[in-house]
This record gives sequence, structure tokens and C-alpha cells, in this order.
Amino acid sequence: MSSVTESFGSMVFNESVMRQRLPKDVFKQVQLSINNGKRLDITAATVVANAMKDWAIEKGATHFTHWFQPMTGITAEKHDSFISPVGDGRVIMEFSGKELIQGEPDASSFPSGGLRATFEARGYTAWDPTSYAFIKDGVLCIPTAFCSYGAEALDKKTPLLRSMEAINRQGLRVIRLFGNTDVTSIRTTVGAEQEYFLLDQEMYNKRKDLIFTGRTLYGAKPPKGQELDDHYFGVINSRVQAFMKELNSELWKLGVMAKTEHKEVAPGQYELAPIFTTTNIAADHNQLTMELMQTIAKKHGMVCLLHEKPFDGVNGSGKHNNWSICTNTGINLLEPGDTPYENAQFLLFLCAVIKAVDDYQDMLRISVASAGNDHRLGANEAPPAVLSIFLGSELDNILTAIENDELYINKEKEQMKVGVHVLPKFPKDTTDRNRTSPFAFTGNKFEFRMLGSSASISGPNVVLNTAVAESLRLFADVLEVAEDFEVALHDLIRDTIKKHKRIIFNGNGYDDAWLEEAKRRGLLNLPTTPDCSPCYINEKNITLFARHKVYSENEIYARYEIKLENYVKVIHIEASTMLDILWKDVLPSVNAYTKVLADSLLSKKEISDSMSCSYETMILERFEGLTGSAIQISKELESDIKKINGFTNSLSLAMFCKNELLAKMNRLRTVVDQMELITDRRYWPMPDYGDLLFSLK
Ligand code: ADP
Ligand code: MG
Repeated sequence: MSSVTESFGSMVFNESVMRQRLPKDVFKQVQLSINNGKRLDITAATVVANAMKDWAIEKGATHFTHWFQPMTGITAEKHDSFISPVGDGRVIMEFSGKELIQGEPDASSFPSGGLRATFEARGYTAWDPTSYAFIKDGVLCIPTAFCSYGAEALDKKTPLLRSMEAINRQGLRVIRLFGNTDVTSIRTTVGAEQEYFLLDQEMYNKRKDLIFTGRTLYGAKPPKGQELDDHYFGVINSRVQAFMKELNSELWKLGVMAKTEHKEVAPGQYELAPIFTTTNIAADHNQLTMELMQTIAKKHGMVCLLHEKPFDGVNGSGKHNNWSICTNTGINLLEPGDTPYENAQFLLFLCAVIKAVDDYQDMLRISVASAGNDHRLGANEAPPAVLSIFLGSELDNILTAIENDELYINKEKEQMKVGVHVLPKFPKDTTDRNRTSPFAFTGNKFEFRMLGSSASISGPNVVLNTAVAESLRLFADVLEVAEDFEVALHDLIRDTIKKHKRIIFNGNGYDDAWLEEAKRRGLLNLPTTPDCSPCYINEKNITLFARHKVYSENEIYARYEIKLENYVKVIHIEASTMLDILWKDVLPSVNAYTKVLADSLLSKKEISDSMSCSYETMILERFEGLTGSAIQISKELESDIKKINGFTNSLSLAMFCKNELLAKMNRLRTVVDQMELITDRRYWPMPDYGDLLFSLK
């Protein structure tokens, strides 16, 4: 065995470790719990906890933690040591079944969106046995869900697990109708491609905006940006190479199947793609990936930026959520099959996704909304804020033929009538790619491309799973009572295409003409977080999530509040940081520089009145104007910031932040960037875009 295959998963308490270390009956119980959600009883849990502890101690662990994903979007852990006193001044290492199954972190500082009053500040964490325990930095981490005492979900994992259950329930109903009796469960799978930037640590340390907000709030365009596309797939330098090597090795130990890595379009930008896995595990793994990227970059004297738009005018970072539906027998339900029969099943699942994306455009939009991603969606590198589906010409022609009851002409020029049992076979065309679509079919899966780079993938997948579960529920309701299954199936597929084809768009999503066309089609265009947030609490969406037991009405309201709260906080911090940098760094530097210019002007005049001082005069005059504007805007911004506390409605406040604060921040930036362009670089108080972007070359 190579060292990689040996170390892969070496820090994970996975199935093979459990098989080795657990008594047969307990192992079986754990498997049942993983596959069918059966709760583990306390006796079995005690045995598992003991085995886990012994294994972890052998691997050098001294502590354990319930590892959970509060609504901040990052992970949380509170370490407890295994040490337990035995009375005579000595200790033993202990870990009980109860400690494994349930924890009670003091959770009052995590956002709850009003779900938890402070008098009942404690939440509890509960083991998710479907995601394996692992060791990170000498700590045994137990993936857990995080709930309030009223069992309301305070985290991102619980709703995701519930949405997996919803699509399992409804998917099985549909699968049964096709006579599949061997399938006992259905799950969704995800491969999340992660984009990020790497910067030199020393450069980063000199940028307060990056430190406080993760993005540059000032910065004039460098003479060279990404125009030449010479970074994309380019040779990776040795420092970054060393980082990637360590990152891969650490991820592999944790069982994360990091597979490909390459340079992205922007200078300093990279991407990592893992091999896909079950959605809730993919979500855990993506969190770990983001965390390790940041800690390992530090070790190599670099900083990993996960912000969606760290640099204005340069491509931002996203996350491509490759998503599919899979049976426990290993069939990918979004893979066109070899037989017409399999193809009919494929088409029905495809229609379920088309319908879901059309019906729940608003929820999908919200699921990727954040202050950071607002800068990216609709810019040049990412899909617009309008949902649409790319199918590719082959599949699109087939759907059109079905819709119109027409003959379909395939690539071999054969004509065929498309009925349920005479569906054409069509090749998976991997060259037919559209990189501008927010939601693209890529042969056997969909690639949801609107996700921002820093956010957890849970939210978008909760929406996808639940919305598709709803389509499947409605389909099953019709088909289960159909007199003639085949006729009903055919009609259902045709009617779904007719009703939802407006969401299908195979053209260039970056083109402005598409936005016009989308409007004509009645598709939603919700450019920013405050614009889309109100849809969260639409009756239709509350009903959807309640029906499938994914979010209660309270849980939805909590998430709505947190989304807006978070948006406001981000803009508030950014505005304050801009002012801080302006007053403490930019203006003093400009002042120092203008003094030099003024001195030079005076000395020239002293030598002779006729000396040309056009350089000094011109620049001094420009600074005069720019400084005046900067001060004016900063006063307006300050007064806006003061108004924040006066709002009682979170939506109005978010709108205010967008319309007033953000607008003024943009104006201030324009002015300061103009100052940067005429300031002697020795006086500019921070590294410029050129320094930052090309710091690793
Ligand atoms: P590309 O041509 O886009 O690079 P890949 O086959 O490399 O396509 O896949 C890109 C991502 O999609 C990878 O993370 C991969 O694991 C994931 N992926 C592939 N098949 C599936 C699937 N059935 N479900 C979810 N993700 C998948
Ligand atoms: Mg991709």
C-alpha cells in the first residue's frame, strides 16, 4: 500500500475501524442507526464511546468535542478532556455513552434568531452517526446536530438531515412505481468545488480591510489584472504547491477526498474539488476543507481568503455545488439510462428538478444570498441573480419533442416518436458546457453555481432537497392513483415541461439581453440580499418546509432574521472600517505627501518665481478636491451609521444599509482610489492591488 492509501481516513472512526473494534451486535446497531436513522440505545452507545476513546487515545487525542454547525455558518467546538479524577490524586481517561450521544454547550452567544430566550440559553447537541467522528489537532470531534430545548434546530445540520429524509420519503414512492423493489433508501450526493485566494501573510497584515472584513474596501485597479487569462490552469508556484500538498494530506487523513486542484482565472486564485459523497457528509467535509485551508495557509506564511469578492474588478470566488440523487443500490437517478424504461424514470426525476427550480426560484436565490455574494452574482464571473436551468441542446430537443408530441431526430438522423417507452437514447455530451448558467445539467448531475465561497453548503442543499421532494410528492400523488401508469407518466412529463419550460435557458447567462428575456418570462430577478429575503417568509415557502418537516414556521422566521441581521452587521463593520482607514491612514498619509509637495513648491519659488511648479500645483489641487469630497462623504456615512440603532424592523434596516451605507461606501471608495493613483507609493499606507494579487508570483 502506498502511504497515501494507508493514511487516507486514518483520523476517521469509519466503518472499517468500527467493524474491527466493536462487538458484532453493537456494530450492527450502529449500521442500522446510520442507514435507517434508528436511535442507538445507551448500552450500545457506551460500548461505542469506549471504543472511540481507546482509538482516539492511541492516535494521540486527549480531548473530545461535539462538533456542530451553528447558524453563523462556521463550525463550533468546545473541548472537554477525557480526564476523570479517581479520588487518590490520579486520573483515568473516560468517555461515556451519554457524552457521546448528547452534549449541553452553553449556547447563548450563538445566533438563534429569537428561537431561544436567554433564560433558556442552553442548547443541546446530539450525535449524527451518519457522519463519522474524526480527530483534528488532538481532539476527537463528534459531528452533532444542535437544537434548543424545544427541539428547534439552531444549526445547519439538522435541517439538512431532515431534507435528506424528505427526499428519501418522496423519492421512494416514485421509485416504487417503476417497480424498483430492491431500493430501500434514496439520498442526494454533492461534490462541492471550492474556490479561494492565497495572499502573502505580510501583505495581508498591512491591510486592515482584509483583516476586519475579508475584502478590500479600497484599492485602485492595477496596471495588470486578469486580462491576459494567464493564471488559469497555470503552473503552480512552489510555495503554493507545498501548501496544497499539506492540505491534501491533512484532508485525506480526515477522509475528505480532495481530488483536483488548479489555478483559477484571477491571479492568486485557486480551486479544490473533492470527489462527491452523501450531501450531509459533503457539507461537513466542505466545512473542514475551508477550516484547513485557512490554518494550513498560515503555516506557509500565507492567508487564505474565502470571501466572495475580495478584490473589486477581479473575479470573485464561488462554490460549485454538484448535486445528484442516488439509490442505496448505487443508481444515479439523474443519469440517462440504457433502456427506454430507465430513461423514462430519468426524465421524471429531471422534470422534478425543473419544476422544483422554477417553483422555488426565490428560495434557491435566498439560499445563496449574503452581503459578500451580492458583489459577485451578476458581476462578470458569476451567474446573474436570476435562476435558470441549462440542459444542453440534446436534452432540450428531446424535451421539446415530448412537449409537442413531435418526432425527435437524433444525431444519427433517425426519427423517433418520443413516448414513455420509446424514449431515445442520448449520449452524455460532456463537451456541451455552459459556464454562465446558475444551474447546469452536466450529464448525470446538476451543478448549482450561485453559491458563495465562504458560506456553508447546507442551506442551498436544504432548499434543493426539499423543493425536489415536493415535486416528487406531487408526482407520486398523481401516478399512484393512475389507471394507466404509462399514459399518466407521459402526460405528467409533458405537462411539467409545458408548465415549467420558462426556467430553461441554454444561452449566455452573462448577457444583459438575458435579463430582459427573463423578465418577459416572469422569472424573478432579486439582485441583493435585502431584495430576496422577504420571500423567505412567503406563505408558499413556509408551507413547503412545514409540510416536509424541514423547518417549522418559527425556524424559518429565525433564519430570516439571522440573514438580515448578518447582512446589516457586515455592512456596518465594513463602513466603520472604511472610516477608520480613511481617518487614521489615508488622510494622514495624503497630508504627509502634500506637505512634501508644498515644500517643494515653496523651495522652487524661493529659487526663482519663474520656475514651473505645474506638477506640484496640479497634484495639490487634485488632492484638495478629493480630500474635500472624502471628508464630506465620510460625514454622511458617519451620520448614517448613527441611525442604525434607531431601526426596529430588520428588513427596513437592511434596505437602509444597502441604499444608504453601501452607496456612500462606493462613492468614498471611488474618491480614495483616485487619491491612491496620484500618491507617491512610499506614502500610500497599504499595499496596493498589484502588491496583493501578485504577491505569490
Ligand atoms: P467537471 O467536468 O465539471 O470537472 P467532474 O466529473 O470532475 O466534472 O465533477 C465535478 C464535481 O462533481 C466533482 O466534485 C465530482 O465529484 C462531482 N460529481 C460527479 N458526479 C456526481 C454525482 N453523481 N453527484 C454529485 N456530485 C458529483
Ligand atoms: Mg465545475
